[in-house]
Amino acid sequence: MALLEVRRLAVQFPIGERLFRTAKRVLRAVDDVSFEIHSGESMGLVGESGCGKTTLGRAVVRLSEAVSGSISFEGEDITALKCSTLRSRRQRFQMVFQDSHSSLNPRMTVEEIIGEAIEIHRLARTREVRRHRVIALLEQVGLDATHLRHYPHQFSGGQRQRIGIARALAVQPKLIVCDEPVSALDVSVQAQIINLLRDLQQSRGIAYLFISHDLAVVEHFSHRMMVMYLGKVVEIGDTKRICQTPRHPYTQALISAVLDIDPHSKRRRIVLSGEPPSPISPPSGCPFHPRCPIAEDRCRSTAPELRQVSEDHQVACHLA
Ligand code: SF4
Repeated sequence: MALLEVRRLAVQFPIGERLFRTAKRVLRAVDDVSFEIHSGESMGLVGESGCGKTTLGRAVVRLSEAVSGSISFEGEDITALKCSTLRSRRQRFQMVFQDSHSSLNPRMTVEEIIGEAIEIHRLARTREVRRHRVIALLEQVGLDATHLRHYPHQFSGGQRQRIGIARALAVQPKLIVCDEPVSALDVSVQAQIINLLRDLQQSRGIAYLFISHDLAVVEHFSHRMMVMYLGKVVEIGDTKRICQTPRHPYTQALISAVLDIDPHSKRRRIVLSGEPPSPISPPSGCPFHPRCPIAEDRCRSTAPELRQVSEDHQVACHLA
């Protein structure tokens, strides 16, 4: 059984007139998305800004509400759980945010930030036990007891991200959604955080949904990956297979843009023309057709479904 099972998930936001309580248009941020994540697995999620990656990540942990579809965690449908029940389930899935500065309360000390989650879920009987747990968590993420009474502004960006990770770990989750956890950090610090996440995965068997616009980072970190375009998954499967033989023209363009240090490489950069269309009025047929270099007539009228092209490799393209 998969740890997380997402089926035909859709997240929409109403746009425009609220005066008469009738939203005339909707923004389809996530459109008919299905995937699974197994225990101890990293699933990468890539795509351009605005493609719906963050909304999908937030929907998985129920920070954004779905209009249709389902999310099951360890076989339990959590899509419509009420707040009180959801709070107890949140112990099993956590989120690490991109902006470590605004995701940590500036008025709380590190001990309070990490200890809060332990207290909410009643994971320590006394204040002393809670403090010991906070110190152990800090040591796991490369900090120590001397940081207990410090405030977030007293740390570097990389250290704040470590605190965010320690907070997520405090409740012993089985899945962590990492939303661009390293994109605001220097390259050397990015590597440290990635290695930390990987070490934690090996020691605790945590599964990740790892969201990034940086395909090189996803390739390095993820066992499996999915590529999103305009709210839809256009390619999903084994990371190595997709990176070596991308089948969707959009994935091919993304991979061609990754810096290649091999002097003998024959890789050619594919430059896409135009901007991604608006998710408020997506194009007919294949959502990628206005930018696709090999689009043909049927692409303009018929939307391609995801279909299997090889073992653990699905693509939504008529010509793949
Ligand atoms: Fe391009 Fe057509 Fe494939 Fe869409 S379905 S990616 S437009 S070839």
